[in-house]
Amino acid sequence: MIEKELPSGRQLDEEFSRTETALRGFSPALSDIILELGVPEHYARQASEKANCMASFEYQAIECAVRPKTAKERAEAMLKYNPDAILLLHPDLHIQQTNVTFHTLFACEPHVYHDCSLYDLIDEADIAHVNAIIQLASAKQTGEQVEIHCRRKDDTHFDAELSISPITVGAETTGWVCTLRDITKRKRTDADLLQALKKDEAANDRKLRFIAMASHELRAPLTSMLMITDTLRIYRHKLAEPQIDLRLGQIKTQIMALAALIEDTLQLAQLQVHRIKFNPVECSLDTLCRNILDEFQSQNVITPQFIYTCDTQLCKAQLDETLMRRIITNLVSNAIKYSPASKPILVSLSCNSEMLSLTVQDEGIGIPAAEIDHIFEPFHRATNVDSIIGTGLGLAIVKDAVELHSGTITVVSELGVGTIFTVHIPIMPCAGKA
Ligand code: ADP
Repeated sequence: MIEKELPSGRQLDEEFSRTETALRGFSPALSDIILELGVPEHYARQASEKANCMASFEYQAIECAVRPKTAKERAEAMLKYNPDAILLLHPDLHIQQTNVTFHTLFACEPHVYHDCSLYDLIDEADIAHVNAIIQLASAKQTGEQVEIHCRRKDDTHFDAELSISPITVGAETTGWVCTLRDITKRKRTDADLLQALKKDEAANDRKLRFIAMASHELRAPLTSMLMITDTLRIYRHKLAEPQIDLRLGQIKTQIMALAALIEDTLQLAQLQVHRIKFNPVECSLDTLCRNILDEFQSQNVITPQFIYTCDTQLCKAQLDETLMRRIITNLVSNAIKYSPASKPILVSLSCNSEMLSLTVQDEGIGIPAAEIDHIFEPFHRATNVDSIIGTGLGLAIVKDAVELHSGTITVVSELGVGTIFTVHIPIMPCAGKA
């Protein structure tokens, strides 16, 4: 039945030429179909050859039409979605073409930088660096990189990594491919890391210096005690009772100095490695001050003359009571130590809406001007202290304690006239009057 409906050989030829295009999609299977249909052998062979021919034609046509298009699209996509700004430059470095990222990075419409030079994108200070890598890239025929500052038309800046490589035909440079990567965030992170590292190094340095100084200071009273005990051991039969008592008294003084030194060293060490927890609670600074001054007056053989004033507006505030006690005690005990008993010591508390202020003022020996910047450093004692006992750690502790309250401490002093220490602490308020 199928055989009756078969066209003649000529008709088949014509049919082939008329329907060539239509058959293109099915050409690879055409020979098989014809064979199946039982076409006479020579027509079948011709048909098969044509089918193969068409298959080849079709493949080439697809290759010609589709491949370049895909390649172009791929290239465009690569350029368009690349996270770096890509610029195609003329040999004289004028901009020929840019991708979308370039317009985003430079916050501009595509036409804005048309006909501008690469140099229009670069900070003046970096032009020499860019010229250097262009020369290198040209000489070595390679891509070269440099970190630069880019500037936009609106005069804003950003850090960028510029890469540039020549496009060459034979020995001739026909253009340049340049990429600009925004490295502002990376630079900021690098800078932050560097700063943290430096801070860490400084903290470690401080700790090492502190340990070295502490060991040295602790050795001094020990050496002194050793010498006195040696004297007692060797000469005790030759010494009168009062001489022995004198030396025992000296040992006691050294033990007390050593105890104070150990206590202060531990306090400061704990403050510096943040072992002491900052624990602010609702606290009346006025009550604390009064209590401390009362304690000083009851403990000292010669009663210090305090003049105490407190701002009536002083509020209760969130303060670490232990640290505040340490601050007031150290400042007041220094004022007592470094001024004659006959002179009054002024202690005052005041406040405004943001700050609490504590002032301790004396009329004592004062601090030499050249040393004022060093008195908050651990173990620093001014040259005019003579035989007045001290560890040189009190003010370092005060400073750390004030800073834990986010406060500041200042000092004004005149040699032989007196000294004023002022502590400012920002108020973390709580309800109620002091
Ligand atoms: P110290 O135990 O030696 O008093 P501080 O750390 O409290 O240690 O003080 C450091 C140095 O600052 C003191 O040795 C002293 O030279 C100086 N100083 C501190 N307070 C006063 C003051 N009120 N008057 C004069 N000098 C002071």
